Amino acid sequence: MSVYRLLFVCFASVIVAVGAGADPTPATRDAGKKTQAAAEDPSITFNSVHVDGPYIAMTFDDGPSATLTPKLLDLLAAHHIKATFFVIGENVAEHSEIVARAAREGHEIANHSWSHPNLGKMSGDSVRSQLQRTDDAIQNATGKRPTLMRPPYGSITAREKRWIHDEFGYQIILWDVDPYDWKRPGPAVVRNRILKETQPGSIVLSHDIHPGTIEAMPSTFDALEAKGFKFVTVSELIRMAVPKASRPSPQPGENAPTKAVPSPSLAPSAPSSPRD
Ligand SMILES: [Zn+2]
Repeated sequence: MSVYRLLFVCFASVIVAVGAGADPTPATRDAGKKTQAAAEDPSITFNSVHVDGPYIAMTFDDGPSATLTPKLLDLLAAHHIKATFFVIGENVAEHSEIVARAAREGHEIANHSWSHPNLGKMSGDSVRSQLQRTDDAIQNATGKRPTLMRPPYGSITAREKRWIHDEFGYQIILWDVDPYDWKRPGPAVVRNRILKETQPGSIVLSHDIHPGTIEAMPSTFDALEAKGFKFVTVSELIRMAVPKASRPSPQPGENAPTKAVPSPSLAPSAPSSPRD
């Protein structure tokens, strides 16, 4: 997908920007605007997850990339980190062996549509086709069907969430940490933004199609590990969810981070700033 095409979609989607706000596109990213994408049904949509320990999920969108995704997989393996890849169906069809490798190495593969359109502006049949083709491509590559989807640009209507969940069984995954890596601000900026915003239960958005993002990851992983964070897939994070009202209890044997203590403000329904 070309940058120009992305830009075009972005500008088009700013008018619509339904519910979740927008994806990695300049026009749709409104830093000051807090959206409530998850407000209507926390069991379907997640910006983050309320957990008792220092668990976070790193997510990488828009791949696989023939050159960058394998590099990232090497890094993840070296750090023993499991991540979640929201893949584009047409890229899966082109590089299914990379997706197969990611799944084999314990990462989660999830649906990010076939060609990265703005689902919030499309007919039901078009959305269905985007998701089904990608679901099939992932199944072909990995032998498993995905259980999560992320709408491109975070754009999806409440109605779409409901029927997509009913038909595909997907949970809709947004994010609460966005380093704006698609703007290619340089590895140090990407790392610093992630470090500043990440809390227990965070879902961190990045894109494994930008060289600077991959360059940022070694020091990002090091720093997150030094803070005591532990990396799980999004599905694992969701399975760790605890009710918002429950008091975080110390976890025996756990190396609690000094700063990264569970925050009562984090919950699946907590409004955050989804801008992908
Ligand atoms: Zn995307």
